[in-house]
Amino acid sequence: MILIHAQSVSKTYQTGEISSTALKNISFRIEAGSFAAIVGPSGSGKSTLLNLIGCLDRPTTGALTVCDLDVTTLDRNAAAAFRGENIGFIFQDFNLIPVLTVYENVEYPLLMVRNWPKEKRHERVMQMLASVGMEAQADKKPDQISGGQKQRVAVARALVGEPRLVLADEPTANLDHDTAYRIINLMKEMRDQYGTTFLFSTHDQKIMQSAEQTYLLEDGQLTMQGGAQ
Ligand code: ADP
Repeated sequence: MILIHAQSVSKTYQTGEISSTALKNISFRIEAGSFAAIVGPSGSGKSTLLNLIGCLDRPTTGALTVCDLDVTTLDRNAAAAFRGENIGFIFQDFNLIPVLTVYENVEYPLLMVRNWPKEKRHERVMQMLASVGMEAQADKKPDQISGGQKQRVAVARALVGEPRLVLADEPTANLDHDTAYRIINLMKEMRDQYGTTFLFSTHDQKIMQSAEQTYLLEDGQLTMQGGAQ
């Protein structure tokens, strides 16, 4: 089943008189259950593409379907509802809420978009913390854990609402190389365990080799699509 289908997607940013085209006629398909990477140097359009797929922005032209929905015309509220139902996000700077504990950070999306009773929430949060090996740290605050541990918590938070798709924008950019590999492998284990589709971006050629599909972006153009590595 195709989870993401982009056909001739372009994105032009208009800042006053100046326009810059960040994506030029991008077409690709990503199957459900994929573990895929968008690879390219800084400024090549990776974040722009993830933002379009994550319905944080809309293409200027082209067709884009995510989780069976045409996302090119969603308004803000519809996009937020769609994200809450279908998409989890992981960021390069972790984006944990500093005043909340590890447990509360993972619980947070459930409070926002799922009307689950407290016991069901508790069960799900503890299941996710166990999956990423962080249940012993549940009561700590983000400043009491390492960068790699923060990203483990962020992986749990992205998955807690049972999304069909997780988007991760440079999830390893602020981690040392060994920790980066561990996080990518953890994400792959989560794909295996929960069947969630993962799409992450990286500018690191070595990290890219952990992906099963790669999409190479150069100057806003898709220059290469690769299958299983
Ligand atoms: P990457 O994630 O690969 O570093 P980006 O998608 O952030 O690339 O950026 C692609 C291009 O689009 C760059 O030239 C960048 O300056 C431009 N760009 C990104 N976001 C905006 C914006 N909000 N307004 C104007 N230009 C932007």
